[in-house]
Amino acid sequence: MEKVIIIGNGPAGSTAAIYAARAGLKPIVFAGSLPGGLLTQTGEVENFPGFPDGKNGFDLVMDMQFQAEKFGAVFEYEEITSVKLDQCGTHILEVSDGRTIETQTLIIASGATPRHLDVPGESRLYGNGVSACATCDGAFFKEVPVVVAGGGDSAMEEAIFMTRFASEVHLIHRRNELRASLIMAERAKQNPKIKFHLNCQILEILGDQKVSGVKILDRNSENEAEIKCSAVFTALGHTPCSKIFKDAGVETHENGFIVVKNNTSHTNIPGVFAAGDCADPRYRQAIIAAGMGARAAMDAEKYLADAGK
Ligand code: NDP
Repeated sequence: MEKVIIIGNGPAGSTAAIYAARAGLKPIVFAGSLPGGLLTQTGEVENFPGFPDGKNGFDLVMDMQFQAEKFGAVFEYEEITSVKLDQCGTHILEVSDGRTIETQTLIIASGATPRHLDVPGESRLYGNGVSACATCDGAFFKEVPVVVAGGGDSAMEEAIFMTRFASEVHLIHRRNELRASLIMAERAKQNPKIKFHLNCQILEILGDQKVSGVKILDRNSENEAEIKCSAVFTALGHTPCSKIFKDAGVETHENGFIVVKNNTSHTNIPGVFAAGDCADPRYRQAIIAAGMGARAAMDAEKYLADAGK
């Protein structure tokens, strides 16, 4: 029987592993389908404290892993395919290589995947102008036009954020009505650098080696047009990787994000904790995920101590 199993090795999972390993709990981390999580798909990370010159996203998660391994955490590159969670203590996990593992506590740090436009050019130019995180990559696009896709609060926030750097921001949304809250929408509308293209569909992201523009269909006029830009920030919402846990009885919000209790990492099932983007519809930042991971490991440690395990 294991004491702590962690699912996911992004900043949340790896930080949980550092804390749990230092507490002598010998955690095993299952990396999952995207080892290292979303951070491995960003280029330079400039907003993680402690790295004044920035740090490559992949290197950052690998360093977190090395740090956890130094204290005895074990990382496995298999996926957990199903979980059976017990209200009274022993949780059973099926591993993709056929093993079954029993654990006293489980930390879910399985992340979330950004929704995509699914248009030509998007995946090819990902990291070369296409990004799902303006906070992470926006500062690379100074004095050039950029596009933000989406009509929710994130799109408004990212568009407003980008006005600090870009020469102009084209906000493109597929419907006539915005999904964003009134206050966020008003704030964006009052910003003279933001140009709204409502009821417009992005048909293609253009560019050879890097983004040079987007082709859009204006659904009001049925005309196609091109907008020149150096970056496309997709702010289309995220899908949390929570399905197998929800199926096993973990409470989630309507949008699939795992519910944690009273500002802790406790889920509705004793001994099962959640951290990082799978439980965070709001911030989705590496530093926040890392903090949540630390909290989950501390909650797991206390849970085991209180149970005398
Ligand atoms: P949302 O799910 O709220 O919005 C996603 C937007 O993307 C919608 O406008 C949606 O269009 C559009 N979209 C989704 N898929 C596609 C697609 N394939 N093609 C084109 N457009 C697409 O996600 P957010 O990340 O904006 O917000 C998530 C949560 O976080 C919300 O509760 C929000 O309020 C909160 N938040 C709050 C902030 C704040 O208060 N400052 C800041 C950021 C987020 P459609 O509307 O047609 O469905």
